[in-house]
Amino acid sequence: MLSSLRSIVQELNATQDLESVLTIIVRRVRETMATQVCSIYLHEEKSHAYTLMATEGLNPESVGQVSLSANRGLVGLVASREEAINLDDAEAHPNFEYFPETGEERYSSFLGVPIIHHRAVLGVLVVQQTSKRRFDEGEEAFLITMSAQLAGIIAHAEVTGALVSMGSQAVKELKFVGIAGAQGVAIGDAVVVTPLSDLNAVPLQQCDDVDAEIRFFNQCLAAVREDVRHFSLQLEERLNKEEQMLFEAYASLLDDAALGREVIEQIKQGYAAQYAWSTVIGEHVKTFQSMSDPYFRERATDVQDLGRRVLAYLQQSTQTKVVYPDATILVGEDLTASDLAEVPKEKLVGLISVKGSGNSHVAILARSMGIPTVMGAVDLPFTRLDGRHVIVDGYHGHVYSDPGDQLLKHYQEIAEEDLQMAAVLDAVKDLPSETLDNHRVSLWVNTGLIADAQMSLDRGAEGVGLFRTEVPFMLRDRFPSEEEQRAVYREQLEAFAPHPVTMRTLDIGGDKSLPYFPIQEDNPFLGWRGIRVTLDHPEIFLSQTRAMLKASEGLDNLRILLPMVSTLPELEIAQMLVNRAFMELIDEGFSIQMPQIGVMVEVPSAVYQAREFAAKADFLSVGSNDLTQYLLAVDRNNPRVADLYGAMHPAVLRALQQVVDCCRAEGKPVSICGEMAGDPKAALLLVAMGFDVLSMSASGLLKVKSVLRGIKLEEAKELLDQVMALPDAESINICLDKVMRRVGLGRIFNPGAAE
Ligand code: PEP
Ligand code: MG
Repeated sequence: MLSSLRSIVQELNATQDLESVLTIIVRRVRETMATQVCSIYLHEEKSHAYTLMATEGLNPESVGQVSLSANRGLVGLVASREEAINLDDAEAHPNFEYFPETGEERYSSFLGVPIIHHRAVLGVLVVQQTSKRRFDEGEEAFLITMSAQLAGIIAHAEVTGALVSMGSQAVKELKFVGIAGAQGVAIGDAVVVTPLSDLNAVPLQQCDDVDAEIRFFNQCLAAVREDVRHFSLQLEERLNKEEQMLFEAYASLLDDAALGREVIEQIKQGYAAQYAWSTVIGEHVKTFQSMSDPYFRERATDVQDLGRRVLAYLQQSTQTKVVYPDATILVGEDLTASDLAEVPKEKLVGLISVKGSGNSHVAILARSMGIPTVMGAVDLPFTRLDGRHVIVDGYHGHVYSDPGDQLLKHYQEIAEEDLQMAAVLDAVKDLPSETLDNHRVSLWVNTGLIADAQMSLDRGAEGVGLFRTEVPFMLRDRFPSEEEQRAVYREQLEAFAPHPVTMRTLDIGGDKSLPYFPIQEDNPFLGWRGIRVTLDHPEIFLSQTRAMLKASEGLDNLRILLPMVSTLPELEIAQMLVNRAFMELIDEGFSIQMPQIGVMVEVPSAVYQAREFAAKADFLSVGSNDLTQYLLAVDRNNPRVADLYGAMHPAVLRALQQVVDCCRAEGKPVSICGEMAGDPKAALLLVAMGFDVLSMSASGLLKVKSVLRGIKLEEAKELLDQVMALPDAESINICLDKVMRRVGLGRIFNPGAAE
């Protein structure tokens, strides 16, 4: 059964359109279970009914004709109960409903299982047979397993099918749901970025000049043919007969007139060579994968490999250079900081990433740049979005393709309202950040790009609580030299002087990798991250801290922050290394001051040892993004568990209070530089807890300031007491929303609520 399951899923993975997906499922499930009927009913959002969409065994004419509302018939019952129903005599069941057009009266036994994706019932998968016998446990378990695996594929095919094919006039407005990444609304044109040589991620694109595209395709094919010939000659003596045959098979595939013809046919229809090649290869891979002979099934890998080689040529020397529209919405499976850097700054208005979640680093970067972003749009067939008009709703995490006039108008109004709100907020820019009863709170910013500095200063930032030094490391193709680093750090320190700038030592690992220093691990968030990497590479740590110290000469506004510290010896060794760098530079004649050294509290062990860390360090700064993920055991990047990730969880709030209390006891300052500091609701609680500094993305600064200026510290403390007694994040959020509305600050907390 397992191998049938695998081969069905493999066959489906290479299939795009919904109709073919459903047809394959009913055919293969019926075959594998040796039943007489297999059918699929899918849920229709508008009518709330379950409609027969594919069948093997029932009258094919009834497809699309039979529809049951939830709770009607056995199919409706499976859907509403969200569990399998297994009957030896379906007709005897009180819910049985007879549809003469299906011809199903002949079938006595019925097994129906719900198809559930992201907690929603997409449809029902049914098998039936004539004999009056209950399906056995094994069969039931198989169908449930099948359905669980199929749900994602069906959901994907549904949305892909809905995005009408290129060139058609009948475009339809579609909505895709993801996770809010950075607030705001963007309306623009999608530009899809894809990793090179990935056959499954080639954007659907047109070509302008068909003849030139065909010539270009033939050149690339010839180049790969030449490569293959070259390899096989080079390796001739070392290859055994079987391996030589592989090269011959490769060469013959490339010479296969049929393959080239299919691609050229597609190019003639206006498709770009890359896209045409990837779809034709996809079809061939699918054919090989579905063969029962293991030898031929294996050949699918060869076709894929060859496909990637040709694609690499097509992409390397692609005819068309990316032209970024004036309002570019960058779309990718897993966007990175360098993808963002490719787009001219003034043209980038929105971001959509299929992977990642609200606290992934690319979302944090987007927030600091003020670019509306949707993350974790897992069902988005992103390769089909290239060139389409889209709306990014970064408030709710929604994406709309080909929006109609009414929707456009609605979002233009929200964008307009946002501008007005920005003007209102601008008014507090130069006012002190203090509560109604004059309690001062320092509002600092998190930066990573030089561009952040101006925006932060424009918004009245009083310091930098976190400069993510890994960003300049990510934008290069090798480690920056000490001098290159010094120049970057100097610019940052100068921009903010005399305000303090807290520079974090290199924090790579987890979801932040450097292309020139790859870290491959099964469990990267629990692996070689942050201080663990740099203490294992003191040369990196030393050159970085030397660069920071040199950069601070004459400014003396540097503070150094250590990420991912989980043990006291890590702090001690880091302090010793900074001290060494400092002494070296003094010996070299630099006139510098020893900076304060702080520890990030972002793992549970640091919470429990906060007192000891506070005693040894100069200050503590809570990294609530990681602390939340490690306390709740919820990956901050995984959209599947995004609902469970939340800094308002009572356990996180209690941990924060504990850290503040430990710092108080040691007389050391405490700040917070995770994203929650920029959430105005959370900021109230943090101030009440006693944090000295809130450090946030520049985009949140003015909102936080206006909220603090609208409330008394005493009120915030009462609110904190109330919140600390609540059992879960949801009730805490509801409670805070209510309070905010009461004091007239609702719009700041719920921007874009008009949806
Ligand atoms: C944090 O973890 O809260 C933090 C500020 O660091 P980063 O988001 O860069 O991991
Ligand atoms: Mg962190």
